[in-house]
Amino acid sequence: MVNQAWRRGPISDSIRCVDTLDRLLASLRRCCLSLPDQRTGANTRYAMADFGLAAFSVFFMQCPSFLEYQRHLTKQRGRSNCETLFGMTKIPGDSQIRAKLDPVEPGQFHPMFDVVLDELQKSGGIEAFRRLDGHVLIALDGTQYHSSYKVHCPQCSTRQHGNGKTEYRHDILAATLVAPGHNRVVPLIPEFIVPQDGHDKQDCESRAARRWLAAHGARYAPLDPIIMGDDLFSRQPICEAVLAAGAHFLFVCKPASHPAIEEFRAGVVLDELKQKVKRGRHRYTYRYRWMNQVPLRGDESAMMVNWLMIEIISPTGKVNHTNSFVTDMAVNRDNVAELAACGGARWKVENESFNTLKNQGYNLEHNFGHGSRNLSAILTTLNLLAFACHTICALAIPLWRAATEAIGTRKRFFEHLRSITVFLVFPGWEDVLATLAFVRSPPLPS
Ligand SMILES: [Zn+2]
Repeated sequence: MVNQAWRRGPISDSIRCVDTLDRLLASLRRCCLSLPDQRTGANTRYAMADFGLAAFSVFFMQCPSFLEYQRHLTKQRGRSNCETLFGMTKIPGDSQIRAKLDPVEPGQFHPMFDVVLDELQKSGGIEAFRRLDGHVLIALDGTQYHSSYKVHCPQCSTRQHGNGKTEYRHDILAATLVAPGHNRVVPLIPEFIVPQDGHDKQDCESRAARRWLAAHGARYAPLDPIIMGDDLFSRQPICEAVLAAGAHFLFVCKPASHPAIEEFRAGVVLDELKQKVKRGRHRYTYRYRWMNQVPLRGDESAMMVNWLMIEIISPTGKVNHTNSFVTDMAVNRDNVAELAACGGARWKVENESFNTLKNQGYNLEHNFGHGSRNLSAILTTLNLLAFACHTICALAIPLWRAATEAIGTRKRFFEHLRSITVFLVFPGWEDVLATLAFVRSPPLPS
């Protein structure tokens, strides 16, 4: 649709509104203004906001060279999109940005994740994430975002390899709002997997999950969440931590790692439901089995959980897929299929969140700078925030959606966004998106 003629003239108020994005960026600016700065003197507060906004803008525009291009524009035109679109007072240098953000604690940006969630609720976008009678699904999953034999900091985790080399790495436990049948995911506050003060052992995903639940469980409890995770999570301490946080759990439970469940259900005739599902020209059989009140492990203090499994059987009788879960929610004929579908939506974190963050423009693993304190965690947090803001824009701003639809693909949307902002200074986001949606000509260079 690139050759579509410009449709000049006014665009309707309903489609024009980009308030959501303006509010998100204004909140980020306020958040950056509150970052602690060791320096004293005039205008340092504004400069501090510029450092945070500048780093964020690189991820939001999906363009590692964004600031460099904007410096060219400032030289030519006296101003750039950094001021008009992101509200910066001037563009700081890359090394200044790294130096100023390194001492900042990642938690300073946590209020921004609340702002994102607030916008999702305000726009009604949250309703598309509701499943199982009004619950939302929050998937917890760990991923690595830095690995090097050379670049490291005191916050790095280490792994000794057989060849005598030490690998330095950073991992994150991401919390993500997901839903089966919905192609959007929303990152929530993450927890970094870092060596903890007072602990000799390296940190791990399981401990990070319990920290996340203790720190943020109450914040998300009003959403009535179901916490989801892989087989690593279906252990009693995490299940108990979820219940203590006022949430429900739905964790993958592999037979090999849960012998007590296997033993308990052996020889028992299980409840069963079979459904025929048409996929393409073929009809598959979805077979569900479940059992309530089984012990999670073999000892006397084992908690009781509810177990379910799904098998997908091809028309030739071959079992193509099998998965099993444990949950605290009672399983029955009416909800077993939806529970299995929700449990299976966890893969979306791997596919739609981590894959997008690593391979589709956000460069999660790219080393923008490591720092000696928190820089890598700060940049990763800003990157997740940019991803979250893009999702909210796509759900809440019709003009954003019109632009994406006019251009065709997400990848090309960002290619076009990068290209036009290299050469032109836009007065605001409405003009950027109206240009990308082919409903308005780009502004003339002044
Ligand atoms: Zn490090």
